[in-house]
Amino acid sequence: MEKIKDLIRNIPDFPKEGILFRDITTLLKDSDGFKKVIDILAERYKDKKIDYILGAESRGFIFGAPLAYAIGAGFIPVRKPGKLPYNIVQAFYELEYGTDSLEMHTDAIEKGKKVLIIDDLLATGGTAKAIIELVEKLEGDIEEIAFIIELEGLNGRKKLKDYDIYSMIKY
Ligand code: 5GP
Repeated sequence: MEKIKDLIRNIPDFPKEGILFRDITTLLKDSDGFKKVIDILAERYKDKKIDYILGAESRGFIFGAPLAYAIGAGFIPVRKPGKLPYNIVQAFYELEYGTDSLEMHTDAIEKGKKVLIIDDLLATGGTAKAIIELVEKLEGDIEEIAFIIELEGLNGRKKLKDYDIYSMIKY
């Protein structure tokens, strides 16, 4: 795990002053490191009978799609506004910096299907909370919410306290 942590680059004052950005591009370009991350996740979820992996645009796609392939689940993209072509459900959220909304197709999840939500990083938990809202609108069953990185000081876990949370690396 320390090796994976070493592959994450820390960028001070991005995207604005006072924020220490955890840059995963340095992890992604390392073939062993990227594979290790997906292997750890696949090992954790392979026997959980997960129907769908939900990944949020855009860094959630990067980890979600290979994980879905590895465990034999489908992949559902949760997208930024205006990108999806069919009928949508929508949820609003506040970011560590700014506000935004996320959308998913109304027929993305059939009632009772087991889903795993994945994103690169848990900060305040606002993004994950919005994704949960989308899944609940469609009556999906959330198995767990997985993050590569958790910023423990921002208490995102508290906001998601009704759900099981997994994070690989903590700061
Ligand atoms: P939250 O909604 O939990 O406050 O913020 C998490 C979201 O913001 C994630 O979707 C994540 O991609 C993005 N994010 C916030 N801070 C960082 C950071 O330091 N590094 C990366 N890679 N993503 C971040």
